[in-house]
Amino acid sequence: MIASGGGKVAADCIFCKIVSREAPGEILYETDQVLAFLDIAPVSRGHALVIPKVHYETIFDFPAALGEDIITAMQLVGKAVMRATGGTGLNVGQNNFRDAWQLVDHVHWHIIPRFAGDGLTLWPPQGYDSPEQMVLLGRNIRARITEGKTEV
Ligand SMILES: [Zn+2]
Repeated sequence: MIASGGGKVAADCIFCKIVSREAPGEILYETDQVLAFLDIAPVSRGHALVIPKVHYETIFDFPAALGEDIITAMQLVGKAVMRATGGTGLNVGQNNFRDAWQLVDHVHWHIIPRFAGDGLTLWPPQGYDSPEQMVLLGRNIRARITEGKTEV
């Protein structure tokens, strides 16, 4: 892993590879600065991640000036995820270092749709019934973002 704070690309970082399209990702939303995609190990269906495209390891080396882009993406993607899944609640989470459950060393924010009485526990992940189910949900969420049908 390339040292933190460089704001570059880390060669062995799966999120950097999703940004560069070297690795597949069910991408939901993209700007010059941020990318949002479905988590491959969702704790609820529609669980998405919002990341800066540039590699920063934790919130402590993430430039605060990028926070507005991240919040804007979380608002847009969060509403679309709720609409696409029928979610009636939404958790946002952000973990730093292994002892706080950060599994990928590229700072990221979790968007987790919630449902009344879902009894959600954060581990183990719930997953999808099939890769196709994940792709279909991604298509549904993207369509809501594109069409502006994201009011909740
Ligand atoms: Zn990275």
